[in-house]
Amino acid sequence: MTVVTRFPPSPTGFMHIGNARTALFNFLYARHKNGKFLIRIEDTDRERHSDEAVQVILEGLEWLGLDFDNTPESQYANKQRHIDVANELLAVGKAYKCYCTPEELAEMRETAKAEGRPTAYDRRWRDKEGPDDQPFVIRVKAPLEGTMTIHDEVQGEVKVDYENLDDLILLRSDGTPTYMLAVVVDDHDMNVTHVIRGDDHLNNTFRQNVIYDALGWDKPSYAHLPLIHGPDGSKFSKRHGAVGVGEFKEMGYLPEAMNNYLLRLGWAHGDEEIMSMERAIELFDFDGMNKSAARFDYAKLESLNAHYMKEADNDRLIDLVIPLLKQLHALDVSGSARTRLQAGMDGLKDRSKTLIELAQESRFYVSNEITYDPKGDKHLNTDSFPILNQLKGDLESLNDFTTAQIEATCRDVSDTIAGGKLGKVMMPLRAALTGTDKSPSLFEAAEILGQNEVLARLQSAIDHINK
Ligand code: GLU
Repeated sequence: MTVVTRFPPSPTGFMHIGNARTALFNFLYARHKNGKFLIRIEDTDRERHSDEAVQVILEGLEWLGLDFDNTPESQYANKQRHIDVANELLAVGKAYKCYCTPEELAEMRETAKAEGRPTAYDRRWRDKEGPDDQPFVIRVKAPLEGTMTIHDEVQGEVKVDYENLDDLILLRSDGTPTYMLAVVVDDHDMNVTHVIRGDDHLNNTFRQNVIYDALGWDKPSYAHLPLIHGPDGSKFSKRHGAVGVGEFKEMGYLPEAMNNYLLRLGWAHGDEEIMSMERAIELFDFDGMNKSAARFDYAKLESLNAHYMKEADNDRLIDLVIPLLKQLHALDVSGSARTRLQAGMDGLKDRSKTLIELAQESRFYVSNEITYDPKGDKHLNTDSFPILNQLKGDLESLNDFTTAQIEATCRDVSDTIAGGKLGKVMMPLRAALTGTDKSPSLFEAAEILGQNEVLARLQSAIDHINK
């Protein structure tokens, strides 16, 4: 049997990270089993529906690299099929028309509430013919007694007594299918074998199973994942900070870090923290799933991201950072700046936890206009003035402008006029070359910038002090 999983998001214009994790787990399980991973857009809420909202989800999946095996299906497009199925159930007596008015239903709800019953509808039309000219809904006949047991891959055995389940509605009085019906029919028609979703859907599962049983269809296996909580243990929401896939992308995270983090947030293989997608596909199974909710830890995500930044291919990072340099720092990357970035990338990526930091750190390679921030400016003063002058003269006379030569020159200047304190040479030089007090290895950076540019920046720093 081919394993078929599915990801059926409701397009809300936003992709919660919890949904991304659900998508990831469905993807991994399908790939692990050499099965299929399908997408269905649950777009029956026509008032809120928009193509942009669908796009947000597809872009999120694309960014994470969770490629799927179908043209995304539209639940709305299957409407007639849902209606037909409800009518089939009606024809064979597994469903019935209910003519209750909203007032009657409200009254039943009040009574049920007063009596503390979980179900409200009293099934008054279950075995009765009604007036055909009145509005009606179609309800499924749920079993009246006994217990339903679900063998959930994560939660284990979960039971519910049928007396707690209503004869739920399949078609509304305006003829539109309900969500419960649509999900069952679509999952069946898409040959879904495994439903992996958040445990907030567990209650729906009981109801959906009633529909499966009425139809005599095989039910899928279920795996209900504990939800992701915020750092404080409450439901993970905007209150905690970023929660949308797009937001994490904007914050400069790499998709592989995101996937690795989401994977570990709900699944484990021993104590392996760093896991590539290939390895996750090889190992992923329900055994490793956590049974309790995990808390989102921004710091942990960041440290994973730092790891993946170090591992990332330099050319890829350059392509990712160029638009950010433009967007965040109004800097265009010319041919020579790209060459510098290429030469400096090993040093830059080692010190950047996110792409945003990488853009920040890269600026001095891209633009020759150095502005001194307070941390840099502090080192440009009358004390450092003679040092910078000396340095400029000595660097100017170098024939080989290499890391080793630059270092030797700095040490020399330190020994002759800075009392052997290399920091007294390095800090002003760093301020002159980068505008601030932190940078990748400065000797290397100086070599990459080249002699002319280093001399020009030293002159600018000297002029700056003189002003
Ligand atoms: N559209 C539902 C959601 O976004 C999916 C429900 C399901 O997985 O069956 O939560």
